[in-house]
Amino acid sequence: MKYLLILIAASSAISYSLSARSEPLDVASNNNEPIGHYAYFLKETTSPLSLKDAINAFSDEHFTRSKEAFLSFGIGSKAVWLRFDIRNRTNSTVSKRLMIKNSWIDKIDVYFLRNNQVAQSYHTGDAQPFSVRPLENRFFIFDHVFQPGTTTLYIRTATPDPMVLPVYLSSIDAFVDRQMLEAYSYGFLYGGIFVLLAYNLMLFFSLKSSRYLYYSFYLTFFLITNISYTGHGFMWLWPDSPRWQLWSNPVLMMAFAISGLLFATRFLNTKKYFPRLHRTVIYGSAGFAAMQVLAVVSGSHLAALLLAFFFIFVFSASMVFLGAISLYAGNKSAKYFLAASITHVSTSSVTALVVWGIMPYSILAYRAIDIGMMIDAILLAMALADQFRISRQGKIQAEKLAKVDPLTEINNRRAFYQFVRPIWSTGQRHKHDMSIILLDIDRFKRINDTYGHAHGDRVLISLATMLKNEIRAGDVLARWGGEEFVLFLPETRLDTAKSIAERFRKKISELCIQAGSDTLFITVSLGVAHTDKADMTIDKLITAADKQLYSAKEQGRDRVC
Ligand code: GH3
Ligand code: MG
Ligand code: MG
Repeated sequence: MKYLLILIAASSAISYSLSARSEPLDVASNNNEPIGHYAYFLKETTSPLSLKDAINAFSDEHFTRSKEAFLSFGIGSKAVWLRFDIRNRTNSTVSKRLMIKNSWIDKIDVYFLRNNQVAQSYHTGDAQPFSVRPLENRFFIFDHVFQPGTTTLYIRTATPDPMVLPVYLSSIDAFVDRQMLEAYSYGFLYGGIFVLLAYNLMLFFSLKSSRYLYYSFYLTFFLITNISYTGHGFMWLWPDSPRWQLWSNPVLMMAFAISGLLFATRFLNTKKYFPRLHRTVIYGSAGFAAMQVLAVVSGSHLAALLLAFFFIFVFSASMVFLGAISLYAGNKSAKYFLAASITHVSTSSVTALVVWGIMPYSILAYRAIDIGMMIDAILLAMALADQFRISRQGKIQAEKLAKVDPLTEINNRRAFYQFVRPIWSTGQRHKHDMSIILLDIDRFKRINDTYGHAHGDRVLISLATMLKNEIRAGDVLARWGGEEFVLFLPETRLDTAKSIAERFRKKISELCIQAGSDTLFITVSLGVAHTDKADMTIDKLITAADKQLYSAKEQGRDRVC
């Protein structure tokens, strides 16, 4: 942190020494950077100054020489006067375009002076409908033809919004080139966000999971907040509503932050995992929203702005905090969320530091928040995909568990019916032979009693594993209950089924199962039943097999009936 401050201090010192120009601005120089370091500025104190007052104030040396290329006077500033001396050293006129790269200044007055006489003036600002602008642009632009010699430029700006004043003077060609590049970059940003938005809405409608809806709201509010503060909104969407233009930024910023927090609560399931924190977030958001409504209703623009900026700060910190504690609590998809929040906080801090004039201006740093939001949106989309993957895995697991016997890991009774039913119907329609073998371990109770339940379990597992490896593809094996197993044999005549049963009986009697130091042998009794009739049911066939099994037990066990 200390080094960062030293670095900032050092870089501002360098930029000061490079940028504090005593010479007037040469109109022929092609400036792609803001020209703030050629400016003198004065902040009004009490009543508004007229142009004449400002000229007198300059003569009385009340103006201050700017040190920064990028002029910024903070939120809720009094009106500011800027003065530039612009020299045309040639013998011919030079056309240039002046731009104040800001979309939200309420009132702007621009005066071009020749020999202390106003040669040209403009009066505009976003407190007026968009159509009355001298040149249609989301920023404030003014064209002027500079006569040979010196022209003095006075600009007065008044707004409670952040008084950020990047002033540019360039040729119209250079302006158009830069405008084009910016248009592409916004096309890219809005296009990307729009695709994510459409995609997540589609996911919401098909999966009915509310977190996609909340994410869509968050993206929507990001989109319109950005469209609003970049001036695109006033230009495209509400050119005739300067009143809404006045309130749109603080209101939309607040809505954006609240939608982000609501998405976070849904995504991280804070209601379940952090119920108290969840309530704090909900009531806190509601409280701020109520205060914002109050600020708008009472017409306090500055209060609305301060609330919005403060809440954006609270929101960013909360997003990181919620992500961090969720990750700490073991929520795996919180890692994407946390990465997204950290990206968001760090890039928006860079933009804020530039706007406050703490960090040197560059277009990349100024628009860091846009880049950050794009990365943020992609990371969150990945987080949602990850959550989808986890929940689908859980579902598959649950479906699997519902079908599998937990001890032996073969089908349970329910899965047996699920697999057999379709084979049964086709088999019956074509009058195919189908057989069933029911298998029961002999005197299993004794094994349990002698060696303990755990060894009994091991016997069941060994037997199930052996059966699973022995059956043919297409046969359906399941644990029928306790120590009873069932085997369905499609396309199998009675004699084949009987020989299969006999083969199993022999194999099982040869099975060696370790129980401590003892080796355990088991025998089984098997009942076989068969059908080639069309009106037979699965249950009837099983009952028949059960009868045979009973006979096998009756006849002394360890046999097939
Ligand atoms: P029979 O030859 O007549 O079949 O005698 P049996 O002892 O095998 O039959 P009985 O139905 O009297 O006893 C079945 C025993 O199987 C009783 C029960 O404790 C045991 N058993 C059922 N399920 C399990 C299990 O999952 N694990 C273990 N270890 N034992 C089980
Ligand atoms: Mg038994
Ligand atoms: Mg039994």
